[in-house]
Amino acid sequence: MNFEELGLAPTLLRALADYGYATPTPIQAQAIPHILAGHDVLGGAQTGTGKTAAFGLPLLQKLAAMPKPEGLHRPRVLVLTPTRELAVQITDNLRAYAKYLRLNVTPLFGGVGMQPQLDAFRRGVDVLVACPGRLIDHLDRGSCKLGDVQMLVLDEADRMLDMGFLPSIKRIMKHVPQQRQTLLFSATFEPRIKALALEFMREPKQVQVAAQNTVIETIRHHAHPVDGAKKRDLLIEILARRHTEQVLVFGKTKHGCNRLAEQLETAGLPALAIHGNKSQAARQKALNEFKSGKTRILVATDVAARGLDIPDLPLVINHDLPMVAEDYVHRIGRTGRNGATGEAISLVSPDEAGLLRQIQKLLGREIAMETVPGFEPSRAIRSDAKPFDNAPRGPRPAARNRRPHGKPRSAEAHAHAHTGPKPAREGQRDGQRGKQRQGERRSAR
Ligand code: AMP
Repeated sequence: MNFEELGLAPTLLRALADYGYATPTPIQAQAIPHILAGHDVLGGAQTGTGKTAAFGLPLLQKLAAMPKPEGLHRPRVLVLTPTRELAVQITDNLRAYAKYLRLNVTPLFGGVGMQPQLDAFRRGVDVLVACPGRLIDHLDRGSCKLGDVQMLVLDEADRMLDMGFLPSIKRIMKHVPQQRQTLLFSATFEPRIKALALEFMREPKQVQVAAQNTVIETIRHHAHPVDGAKKRDLLIEILARRHTEQVLVFGKTKHGCNRLAEQLETAGLPALAIHGNKSQAARQKALNEFKSGKTRILVATDVAARGLDIPDLPLVINHDLPMVAEDYVHRIGRTGRNGATGEAISLVSPDEAGLLRQIQKLLGREIAMETVPGFEPSRAIRSDAKPFDNAPRGPRPAARNRRPHGKPRSAEAHAHAHTGPKPAREGQRDGQRGKQRQGERRSAR
């Protein structure tokens, strides 16, 4: 099966050839014909499977075939996605696919100034790739109208729900016409996703690629038992030994990632850190430098765990295990993308035995433990540990949706608890913009 046989137009085929896509991935082969035929689609796919092109190509083709409105035009395709990084990545991909089409693809996310976004709406937008929080700001101000949306994509639906975006999605939906085509992508189809799908979709065709919670076979993942106090030295040893390879290192806290990047730098291993306390400009700059190969080592919190597409990344190291088992699958899925081979190493201290057990339970198999001479842990890693036995301090997954006094967080606040700074209230925005400019100035130097 090739792209032509899926019914794609010559303008898109040319762009795909330029981009180096020769054959469709399974999700593309399954989803594209349904989408071109106008069906709603419920897609079971994780990032890394070619999902963006699976929905992007047919939507762009349909959009290009519609008469273009005169003058100021409002979005006719809306893609909702949970994080800024994903909004940027999806926009970049869609722009590349739309290279020979006269369509405007615009990203929309918080943490940056409003004015360029207002200007973009004034110039006209065909495809809007938005994070829910900032989109709601614009809807409230009346600066964005969604009355012309004909095709809607809910990307990473399970994750958006996990981040508490459901009330925001429902609010946004009130602005979108009922008569539309809806595509919903999710790595899992738990009952909440099914409920969302039923609420927002009409007789969707279901397409599914890789099974849930699996690590793809081309990734070799294993763990080194080591005392917490010795993790840094072991990390340095691995990084020095594998000095030619690009490595994404995951840490637990924003502060810890900063410190680790500094310590690596001191050890002669230049590294950048990326986490939610950094300005959007700094995050994007670090990511771009890493993607282009200018930076070899990137130390990140789980802000970089999902969705980020880093071509040919050979190695992921978990300096700390994630607090939520699912994030293990997402973290190590940054390597081995698109059929390439990859490796993931986790440094596991005896305190993390419970977290390791949770991950193994999720995967349905044990992760190979390989002791590194000179780094033997002082205590055994107990395989019968309870999930949070002696675990390092931090929120339990179940507590993530609750505030101490029992009030649920707002979706935006919740999302930023995972991915970025707390949202600014109206009056604070200028300050945030000031910070943003500072970040940009710094990165310009
Ligand atoms: P995604 O799941 O959309 O993030 O895509 C994962 C990676 O696969 C990205 O680098 C895409 O550019 C790449 N990709 C998607 N579809 C294809 C294809 N048909 N052939 C080659 N690469 C692809």
